[in-house]
Amino acid sequence: MTNYKKELVGVFGHPVAENPTVVMLEAAFGALGLDWQYLTIDVLPDDLPDAIRGIRALQMQGINLTIPHKVAVLAHLDEVAADAALMGAVNTVRREGRRLIGENTDGKGFLRALRDDGKVDPKGKQIVVLGAGGAARAMTVELALAGAAEITVVNRSSSRGEDLVALLNTKTETSAQFVSWNGPYTLPAETDVLVNATSIGLYPDVDARPDLVYETILPTMTICDVIPNPPETPFLREAEARGAKTLNGLGMLVYQGAIGFTMWTGKEAPVEVMFEALKKALL
Ligand code: NDP
Repeated sequence: MTNYKKELVGVFGHPVAENPTVVMLEAAFGALGLDWQYLTIDVLPDDLPDAIRGIRALQMQGINLTIPHKVAVLAHLDEVAADAALMGAVNTVRREGRRLIGENTDGKGFLRALRDDGKVDPKGKQIVVLGAGGAARAMTVELALAGAAEITVVNRSSSRGEDLVALLNTKTETSAQFVSWNGPYTLPAETDVLVNATSIGLYPDVDARPDLVYETILPTMTICDVIPNPPETPFLREAEARGAKTLNGLGMLVYQGAIGFTMWTGKEAPVEVMFEALKKALL
C-alpha cells in the first residue's frame, strides 16, 4: 500500500537557521531507509506554548529544543526525565501518545564520547570543567551521576559557578567546588579530565583559547572541548602538543543526536554516517 505520510521530528529555536542537526539526522534516516523528516523551525519565545501543542496536533514523534527554549519548555511537558529535571533543561522531547516527555541528551552525548572514544570511565575521576552555562550543567550532572569523585567548576561569573556547584553538592553524590576564573588557571596535577565547556574558540572566534597555565596540562590527562566548529581548536592543539589525549566537540554533538535518534525511532543510530554528514556541513 502506498504511504505518502512521513514521521515528523525537528528542532525549535530562535535563531535556528544555522543549526546543522538536520544534516546528520536526515543522513541517518536515509541510511536506515526510514520515512522520517527533520524540520528546522524558527519559534519565537512567546509562541513556544503553541508550538509545543503543535507537536501533539501534528502527531510529530518529537522535537529538539535549542536556544532560547531549553529551560522554558519544561513548563509545557507532561513528564521530565530525572537528569533533565536536575539540570533544569530539556533538549529533546519524545511523544508517547499525547504525553510529551522531556529528556536531555547533551551530557549523555559527552559521556558516550568520553567512554567510547576517550576510553575513560568517569567513575572515581577528578574532573575540571571550564564554564557553568547550559553545556557545563548538562555535562557535570551526567558526570556526577556516573560517579565522578570530584568536580571543579571554573567560571568567570561567580553566581553561575556557585549555583552549579551547590546543585551538584546537594543533589548528587559527587564532591564539587567552585574556583573563580580571574587569571590564568593552574590545573591540579591529579586532574584526570579537563573540559572546555565555554564558548571560547567557537567560529568565528577561532584563535581564542581559554586562559590557562598550559604547562600544567600533563600527558596523563584527557582534554575535551565542547566546540564542534571548528573541531580542531587552539585549546586542543596546546593539549596535544603536551602529549595529552584529546576529544573534540564533534563526538558530543553526534552522540547527543544519536541518543535522541534512538529515543524517537527505537533503532540504533548509524553514527559513522552522522559524523561524515556533519563534518561535510561544518567545512
Ligand atoms: P552558555 O551561554 O549557557 O554558557 C557559556 C559559558 O561560557 C559560561 O560559563 C560563560 O561564563 C563562559 N564564557 C563565555 N565567554 C567567556 C570568556 N571570554 N571568558 C570566560 N568564560 C566565558 O552557553 P552553552 O553552555 O549553551 O554553550 C557553550 C558552548 O558549548 C558553545 O560553544 C556551544 O556551541 C557548545 N555546545 C556544544 C555541544 C556539543 O554537542 N558539542 C552541545 C551544547 C553546547 P559566564 O558565566 O561568566 O558568562
